[in-house]
Amino acid sequence: MILYELVCSAEHRFEAWFRDSAAFDKQRKARIVSCPLCGDAKVRKAIMAPALTRSKQRGEGVTPASPQPTEDSGADRQHLLAEVVAQLREHVEKNCDYVGDSFPEEARRIHYGEVEARGIYGEASEAEAQDLKEEGVAVGRLPFMPKRNS
Ligand SMILES: [Zn+2]
Repeated sequence: MILYELVCSAEHRFEAWFRDSAAFDKQRKARIVSCPLCGDAKVRKAIMAPALTRSKQRGEGVTPASPQPTEDSGADRQHLLAEVVAQLREHVEKNCDYVGDSFPEEARRIHYGEVEARGIYGEASEAEAQDLKEEGVAVGRLPFMPKRNS
């Protein structure tokens, strides 16, 4: 048995079980399959939208199969991201030392065991970050600008 998500010509969405895809084609051609809402027999298989692109594809006529708050999902995601960044920032600022422009130098000293290992954050140029990576120094990019202690 296959569960198909179907849509009629009036864009009503419904689901129906079929023995297999051939059975669906046969019943659809024979107009046995009809919309439970308006009785329309002009049904087609609904296109399933991948979960992640739902909100972006709305303009292309792809709507989620089940009722979902698509209107706010983008804003929710933004909000969630902002929250994650805020939490990360709080964590970093509380637990790591701000070393500013001497970040590459400090990161190296920690990497090579010249100083006790600790969490640090600061600024490094693209080239400096690349150099560190090539040396095998683990660095991560923070999604926010550190506060400058100037
Ligand atoms: Zn209908």
